[in-house]
Order: sequence, then C-alpha cells, then structure tokens
Amino acid sequence: MKPIKTTETKFNNFVDFGKRFPNEQACREYLAQARWNGKPACPHCGYSEKVYRINDGKLYKCAKCMKQFTVRIGSIFEDSALPLQKWFMAIYILTAHRKGISSCQLARDVEVTQKTAWHMLHRIRYAITNKSFNKPLNGIIEIDETFVGGKSHGMGGGYTQPNKTAVFGMLQREGEVRARPVPRVAGEILKPIIRQNISPDATIMSDEFTGYKTLKNEFKSHQVINHRRKEYVRGEVSTNNIEAFWSLMKRGIFGTYHWTSKKHLHRYTDEFTYRYNSRKITDIQRFHAFFQFCSGRLTYEELTR
Ligand SMILES: [Zn+2]
Repeated sequence: MKPIKTTETKFNNFVDFGKRFPNEQACREYLAQARWNGKPACPHCGYSEKVYRINDGKLYKCAKCMKQFTVRIGSIFEDSALPLQKWFMAIYILTAHRKGISSCQLARDVEVTQKTAWHMLHRIRYAITNKSFNKPLNGIIEIDETFVGGKSHGMGGGYTQPNKTAVFGMLQREGEVRARPVPRVAGEILKPIIRQNISPDATIMSDEFTGYKTLKNEFKSHQVINHRRKEYVRGEVSTNNIEAFWSLMKRGIFGTYHWTSKKHLHRYTDEFTYRYNSRKITDIQRFHAFFQFCSGRLTYEELTR
C-alpha cells in the first residue's frame, strides 16, 4: 500500500476532517506514517529492516525477534481501548480551540463519558508538554509572574496569596512563550529557570521585582519597567506581551475550565503555551505537529496519584 505523506493532507474544517479519517484504518495508516515515516520499527528490539504487516496494519510482526506489536505501542494511545478516530477528533478539537475545551464539551463532541474525556484531555496535554524546552530563548525576552487560583478566604491576601499558585513565564518577542507553576515567587527559585531557558545574549525586560535585581550581571541587558510608579511602556521596554498571554491563559482556565486544582495547573499552562507557540500555523498544521509529540504515555494512575 502507498504510504500516506502527512504533509499532503489538507483539510479546512471538521467536515474535511471526517472525510480524511472516515475509519480506523485511515487513522492507523496516518499514525504509522507519522511515527515511522513508512518504515515500521520493532519496539521490542529496534529492528526495522523487515517487519510484516498483518491484517491491513492492525498488527505488525518483527522478522528478527518475531514479536508482534501495534501502531499504538509506546504512544499515548497504547493502553487505551478507544478507537483512534475518537482520539484524532479530540486532538483536532483541543488543538484548534484557542480557549481550550472542557471535558463535558469534549464528552458530547466525541461521544464518550465525561471521565474518559477528562482523561483524554490530560493525555493530550501530557503529549504536548515541554518538547521545545531545549533551545534557549534569545532576542528580547519579557519575564513576569502571575497568580492563578481561587480567592483567599479571610487570610488577609497580600503577597503570599494562600489559595493561589504562582506561575512564572518568559516570552520571546515574535517568538515562543514558556510558562510553568512555581512553588513561590523568589529570586532563588526563578533565577535557575531563567538561566536554563534564556541565552546570556538576550535582553530581559521585567517589572521592578527585587528577585530579578542581579540579572543585568548575567545577561546582555536587563530593562526594568516600574509598575509601582504606574509606568507601563518606556520606548520598547514593557512586559505587555507576557501580560496579554496571562490574560488569555486565565480567560481559558476560568472561562472554559472553571478553575482547576493546583495539581493539574502545569498541564493547563502547557496547553496554553503550546497553543500560543503554534499560533501562526493553521489548525491542520497544528494537528500534524501534534503527532511528533505522541510517543509519551501517561497512565490513569500517574494522572490521579
Ligand atoms: Zn523485534
């Protein structure tokens, strides 16, 4: 059978999507092509010279170790009994919606229970996590921190924000954003993250938070905008882009997900950074791009632990 070139696939909406993936076989072929690029590799021994295709690709068998495997093995779909078609729909829907989608809505859209939909969403988020976290950000980087979560109940509020979780973010102008929850907002916690993610050649822009004070010694330049003095833009110095990202993320978290537990916050920040970072590509390119991330796997136990 002629291999499917994933780059050939074009569709503009959900109707085209349905025509492209009318059944399980179409999904399997697509997944095999995306994962192995036309050359299935045995997950047991790594051999790829000769692998038998059995029953229209429902099963593969390695000619060397003689073990069998499916196209799902080692992917986020491995121990799921759901048809790939439902997974594909969920991936398309989740990656295409700018504000995300709730498990209740997804359950209706792809006809699964809400619990299953919740699990699917978390697996998909898991798969899109942190894959670009290697190359340092460069150019002009806006850094900022925000608090996400419920209201403080009679604790006096203030900077500790007992029921909120701090999230730290770094946004390269015209480039990508990286964000993650942090235990608290303090120089000794944020600086290692900054060093790990930002090139020393970069120009950093931030507010006047004292934890950032020594950054000018480690990076090309550090420009500070003084929010306490109601200063928001000074020439090209501002943190407006990262703040716009925060408001997009919070609208999504509260509007679509109706707040969530601290435990899962990092998955939502991953989802929103992924969507932001792929904002210049089309829904279908985003769908294709997803499949380079689908090799990891997250069990229900890991998820609920
Ligand atoms: Zn083998």
